[in-house]
Amino acid sequence: MTNHITHWIAGRPWSGTAERQGAVHDPATGTVTGQVDYASVAEVDQAVSAAAAAFTGWRSTSIAKRTQILFAFRELLHARRDELAAIIVAEHGKVHSDALGEVARGIEVVEYACGIPHLLKGGFTEQASTGVDVYSVRQPLGPVAVISPFNFPAMVPMWFFPLAIAAGDTVVLKPSEKDPTAANFLAALWKEAGLPDGVFNVVHGDKGAVDRLLQHPDIKAISFVGSTPVARYVYETGTRYGKRVQALGGAKNHMLVLPDADLDVAADAAVSAGFGAAGERCMAVSVLVAVDPVGDELIEKIKDRMARLKVGPGRLPSSEMGPLITGAHRDKVTSYLDAGIADGATLAVDGREHPVTGGDTADGFWLGPTLFDNVKPGMSVYDDEIFGPVLSVVRVASYDEGLELINANPYGNGTAVFTNSGRAARRFQNEVEVGMVGINVPIPVPVAYYSFGGWKASLFGDTHAYGEEGVKFFTRSKAVTQRWPGPTHDGIDLGFPTNT
Ligand code: NAD
Repeated sequence: MTNHITHWIAGRPWSGTAERQGAVHDPATGTVTGQVDYASVAEVDQAVSAAAAAFTGWRSTSIAKRTQILFAFRELLHARRDELAAIIVAEHGKVHSDALGEVARGIEVVEYACGIPHLLKGGFTEQASTGVDVYSVRQPLGPVAVISPFNFPAMVPMWFFPLAIAAGDTVVLKPSEKDPTAANFLAALWKEAGLPDGVFNVVHGDKGAVDRLLQHPDIKAISFVGSTPVARYVYETGTRYGKRVQALGGAKNHMLVLPDADLDVAADAAVSAGFGAAGERCMAVSVLVAVDPVGDELIEKIKDRMARLKVGPGRLPSSEMGPLITGAHRDKVTSYLDAGIADGATLAVDGREHPVTGGDTADGFWLGPTLFDNVKPGMSVYDDEIFGPVLSVVRVASYDEGLELINANPYGNGTAVFTNSGRAARRFQNEVEVGMVGINVPIPVPVAYYSFGGWKASLFGDTHAYGEEGVKFFTRSKAVTQRWPGPTHDGIDLGFPTNT
């Protein structure tokens, strides 16, 4: 028996018959566990119509009432976080504690959105001119679309839709077709929390559904997260159709270890951030930049920790690292091992030899933690975003050489520096051309009241996700100039109005 996963439109599961479907797998066993419907143009249009129909009522719903629904949603999410985490583990493969962490970080954004009464406050200037006041309001945009990647099926959508809904917009979410069930779970929670039908809709599918959302005249804004080529395409297409677009792309995150760093702390950090979620995180550390002379000692410490990592199914409490998302992705990631050797890098730890323990895993999508040493720009293991458990070490002679390497990289999502020198760390945060920086922290997803976003090829558009920038993205401002003339007034004046 496999699950049938379908769209959620106007407060209920879609009841039609899909023209196309895709398989959903349990990555730990390789078995097909579900079939997900792929939306055609007609189904996307139905979802957008539902969002458009709900918009007028939702934007006029009082902020007090909207906030009550957000609080109820937050309570339900918190109460049912274990269930949601289990859904993520079953379709994504990450370990349960990691899935709970993803849900917790999503809840943070919901909690931030509960502060919407404060966040939507405009400015007011009394007596800007004689008898004239000026003030600003922020108003919702209309139906907006969220298009999300496979690696955070709950958290990434929650970077966007809580604030969009709090601000008075209505939403069509198009989650990844690889792990679609979390989106439907969230939709059912919204309904239980009292959200009116049509305010939050889910369409499943692939490029066809995305293209229709990018072109649909009623969709006013697009929030996208995924790989850089698709992010660039979404940004260029969406803006061509007149929409506001924020498109977050891929990453190649460097961790710079200076000679004065605590190498045990740095080794723990590199292993945690390199191999957590099998490296399928946009904030994973994929390049370790070791400043001479720390390379040899640091690599030994990392190898020692890697050998002890427990790789196995995410549902087992003993597992620390799960499988990759699909067989095709595992094969692609594994192909980098041969490519790295052919390019002249040193394969210090071969993940193909790492044991997988627990249950029926023979056909799962496994690759153990892998370490390359002596990596250089120009090798595909350095140049490409691998998005798997492959950590590359680049050795450099100095801080300046490390900084130059990081700044020359086309991606600019996250980076970290490990040092005991406040002066060096301060210089790094000032000079590095990357959107999110960790200082002895590998690599931080900013808290909900700051915003998330990379630079360069890691983000197209000028607005980051959530925080104040998220509120700005999902609203447009209006400036009002008002005067309440008395019984006598100045009469006609064709001159350009000036402030007096
Ligand atoms: P992806 O680009 O393949 O897919 C992302 C979304 O776009 C999915 O919903 C997918 O259905 C859709 N899509 C795929 N191909 C498309 C196409 N040709 N046209 C239109 N839509 C298309 O990404 P993924 O493999 O699901 O996720 C991994 C990628 O996401 C990595 O590159 C990772 O770095 C990135 N990511 C970035 C961030 C960030 O914040 N910058 C966060 C998470 C993931």
